[in-house]
Amino acid sequence: MSYLVDKQGFYGEFGGAYVPEILYATVKRLQEEYLPIIESEEFKREYMTLLRDYVGRPSPLYLAKRMSEKYGCQLYLKREDLNHTGAHKINNTIGQILLAKKMGKKRIIAETGAGQHGVATATVCALMDMPCVVYQGALDVERQHVNVERMKMLGAEVRPVKTGNWTLKDATNEAIRDWCCHPSDTFYIIGSTVGPHPYPDMVARLQSIISEEIKKQLQEKIGRDYPDYLMACVGGGSNAAGTIYHYIDDERVKIVLAEAGGKGVETGHTAATIHAGRLGILHGAKTLVMQTPDGQIIEAESISAGLDYPGIGPMHANLATQHRATVYSINDDEAIRAAYELTRLEGIIPALESAHAIAALQKMTFKPEDVVVLTVSGRGDKDVETYLNNKDLAGEYGNF
Ligand SMILES: *Cc1c(COP(=O)(O)O)cnc(C)c1O
Repeated sequence: MSYLVDKQGFYGEFGGAYVPEILYATVKRLQEEYLPIIESEEFKREYMTLLRDYVGRPSPLYLAKRMSEKYGCQLYLKREDLNHTGAHKINNTIGQILLAKKMGKKRIIAETGAGQHGVATATVCALMDMPCVVYQGALDVERQHVNVERMKMLGAEVRPVKTGNWTLKDATNEAIRDWCCHPSDTFYIIGSTVGPHPYPDMVARLQSIISEEIKKQLQEKIGRDYPDYLMACVGGGSNAAGTIYHYIDDERVKIVLAEAGGKGVETGHTAATIHAGRLGILHGAKTLVMQTPDGQIIEAESISAGLDYPGIGPMHANLATQHRATVYSINDDEAIRAAYELTRLEGIIPALESAHAIAALQKMTFKPEDVVVLTVSGRGDKDVETYLNNKDLAGEYGNF
């Protein structure tokens, strides 16, 4: 038994491709063509060259000495924050745009919440000279105006979405609507391990460079190619999927995921889908979904825009249900504090999303020899204002 996807596109009971009839042929073609293309030598060569020369990979695996001392383990940080555009998202958008070109597509669409995936998509569209339309909730367009300006500067058209709650879920609906109108010439670059099969598997494979590098780097550093623990935050699940991909069926390695508790799971103001969700279908996949008893989607709430999603990737829903992964719900205040802690102990300002993974360290007990690899999914430049506005939650680190 494997925790990776099966031939029908399922992870246990989760996954599949629940798409409208008008998209059926397009999704089917993608299902048939994605693996032969991304496993071809030509694709791998172009992809790996761009990851090295454009993104700056391999990203360092850094032994965080002061944090290790604090938590009583050997803590290594996988530095996705050092990538071009500031997060892991570019690993995926580079892969998908190469695939789109090889499939003869002429136009790119994407959804974005905070704008991180939108910027990563607009970036590769500039690089590859492809027209790019990004759907973003109108509320997010207002809240994330720096990223909106970056996308425009890169040549993308940003379309504000004014349906529903004017946020990510609505932007995704609108992107799917666009795709339905232009199924043959348009490639939809999805930003996480969500959506209909093959997207969760495709995005996981494109992010799996993270664990491929971890294996080599651990072998060099500690003479053993696996850690005792792997830790990552989960929004839709792509940085976590990349972090665990090559270890997913290796039971020696414990998997720890951190989802966004928002104000707390019990308050209802939360984005902790694994804790609060029930089986449902969202954006083309059967997965855990935050919903009312009638099946209406409940808006997610988190201080971190990148984790603010009412669904979760089917891979992660299965890992949690099968108890292969331990999932912690980390509240806003815990994430803020953890971000300040990493900043002061290691001189690394993490993205708010990544800070959720760091905060999970406090919920765990380690043996001193335990090797822990934690992925810092992005850098915190975009979150500095939020950090400063919440200085009062940073305890002793907030006195400045
Ligand atoms: C988008 C984002 C996330 C959440 O997305 P995943 O698909 O769960 O990885 C996490 N961290 C950063 C920095 C992001 O930009």
